Amino acid sequence: MSRGPAIGLMAIITTCCTVMQPARVTGPRAERRPEIYVDTLFYSPLVRNNFQFMYDNITAKPDGVEFVVCLDGKVSPDGTPVILQSLLPHVVYAAKDSILGYCPKSPHYVGRAHSHPPGSTCAMSKVDTTSFIKDTLAKMHAVICENRQMISYRKR
Ligand SMILES: [Zn+2]
Repeated sequence: MSRGPAIGLMAIITTCCTVMQPARVTGPRAERRPEIYVDTLFYSPLVRNNFQFMYDNITAKPDGVEFVVCLDGKVSPDGTPVILQSLLPHVVYAAKDSILGYCPKSPHYVGRAHSHPPGSTCAMSKVDTTSFIKDTLAKMHAVICENRQMISYRKR
């Protein structure tokens, strides 16, 4: 499936519904789903800095929108992804609580990250989880939210 000059593309579709129902969120929803779990991963300082810069200047601004980045890295012998570089995807839609974009195919692709609007949590929405599971090449997914918080998710 080719959608432009890039070699191959992976769809990114996320929708944050936590902002719609903040009172019901008591923790990462993914923890209740057996196929996804929260993990602590290593992100290079450059990647962490990019996340914060993009959050402050894209998502946290008045009329801000979510952003998504593609993540390249390596996989440790025990299967743990190490995130070394963030790449901008081909974004075709962005709104306050959703984003649609495509990651270029990369041999170093380990997953992606996206932001949630101020006032919501870093919990994966149902759409986030479904999109992550369908992305067979993704080994991890991170959600970035306000107050410099980020949660990394992995598949079982
Ligand atoms: Zn989301």
